[in-house]
Amino acid sequence: MARIVQKFGGTSVGDLDRIRNVARRVKSEVDAGNEVAVVVSAMSGTTNKLVEWARDIGPLHDAREYDTIVATGEQVTVGLLAIALQNIGVDARSWLGWQIPFKTDDVHGAARIEEIQAEEIKTRLAAGQVAVIAGFQGIGPDGRITTLGRGGSDTSAVAMAAALDADRCDIYTDVDGVYTTDPRIMPKARKLSQITFEEMLEMASAGAKVLQTRSVAMAMRHNVHLQVRSSFNEEPGTLVVDEEQIMENQKISGIAYSNDEAKVTLAGLPDKPGIAAEIFGMLADAHVNVDMIVQTAATSGSQTDITFSLGALDLPKAESLLTEARDRLGFESLQSDSNVAKVSIVGTAMRSQPGIAKQMFEVLAQKGINLQVISTSEIKISVLIESAYTELAVRALHDAFTLETA
Ligand code: ASP
Ligand code: MG
Repeated sequence: MARIVQKFGGTSVGDLDRIRNVARRVKSEVDAGNEVAVVVSAMSGTTNKLVEWARDIGPLHDAREYDTIVATGEQVTVGLLAIALQNIGVDARSWLGWQIPFKTDDVHGAARIEEIQAEEIKTRLAAGQVAVIAGFQGIGPDGRITTLGRGGSDTSAVAMAAALDADRCDIYTDVDGVYTTDPRIMPKARKLSQITFEEMLEMASAGAKVLQTRSVAMAMRHNVHLQVRSSFNEEPGTLVVDEEQIMENQKISGIAYSNDEAKVTLAGLPDKPGIAAEIFGMLADAHVNVDMIVQTAATSGSQTDITFSLGALDLPKAESLLTEARDRLGFESLQSDSNVAKVSIVGTAMRSQPGIAKQMFEVLAQKGINLQVISTSEIKISVLIESAYTELAVRALHDAFTLETA
C-alpha cells in the first residue's frame, strides 16, 4: 500500500468524459489498496477565459479580486470529479484551497505556499476517502483567496505530496512524459525514461512547458518522487530522479526553447562601479526578471554596453523605467528587440565532458545562426537568437547531439 498524489492538468479534465476517465484512473489506484489524494486544474481554456474577463473589466485590477475570479475554474473540476468518483463507488470529497488550508503569502496572482495543514486529509485518506483538491489556489494572511501563478497546480500537487509524505506524486498530462525536445517541432524527439531534478529544473526554466519550474524546485527540496505521464494511455512516463540513479551518460539530455523573450541593449554607459547594480536593482524592485546579461569590455576607454534578456511581457515596463532613469544612468541609447528566442541545451554530463559549448556553437554557425547573447550554468548553455531560427536551431542541435537514439 502506498500514499499517492495524482495531479491531472487542464486537458485531462477538459470535458465530462475526460473527467470520468480520470475517475477511473483514480479508482484503479484505490482498488490497488492505495491512499489517494488528487489535485486538479481547471478545464482547459477556462483559466485563460477567466484571466481575459478580469483584464477586460479592469486592466489595472485589484489583484485580490483577480484571484477570486481565476480560482473558480478549479472549484468546478473538484466538484465534478468528486461526483464522478462517487458514481463509480469511490468515497470522495472535494477540497478548496482555503478549506485545507493551503496557507500562502500575500502576493496575489503569484503567491507562494507557506504551510499546508494536512492532518485532516491524512485521517480521511486512512479511512479510505479520496481527497479531491483544487490546485492553483490558497488562502493569504488576509484571509482572502490567492493563486500561485499560471501552471501553479503542479506546485500544489508537489506541495501536497510533501505535506502528506506521499510515496509518489504522479503528474498526469496530455503528453507521455518529458521529451528530449518539443515533439511538435521535432518529430524525432524521444521520451526520456528518466531525468534528474536539476536537468528538469533547467529544462522547465528554459521554456519546456511540461512542469511549472517552481514545482520542480519544490520536489527537489522535499525529495518528492515525481513522475510525468499521460492520462490518455498506460505508458510508463518519465521519472524525475536523483543524479545517482541515472545510468546513461548522454552528452546532453534535452533541448528547450522559449519564444517569449526580449532583449535590451544600453549603449554608451559610463564604465564605473555601481552601474550594473543600479540598473538591475531598479528592474528587480519592479519585479522584472532579468535572465541573460552581457557587458562588453569598455572600448572607448570610459564607456561600456550592457545587453540583457527578459520576458517579452516585461519589456514595456523595463523600457519605460530605464528611459525615465536615463539621465541618472547616463547611457547614450536604448535599443530593444522582442524578435528573439532562447534556445538551451541541458545535461548533467556537461560537468565532466568538455567541448559541448563548442559543438553547440559550431552547429548553429553552420546554419548561419547568429548568437546575440550566451549564458551558461554548470549544466546548461543558452543562446539568444533571432526567433525566426528557433525551429531550425532546435532541429539541428537535436540531430548533432544524436538525441533521437538513446
Ligand atoms: N488552471 C491554472 C492555469 O491554467 C493552473 C494550472 O492549470 O496549473 O494556469
Ligand atoms: Mg500545466
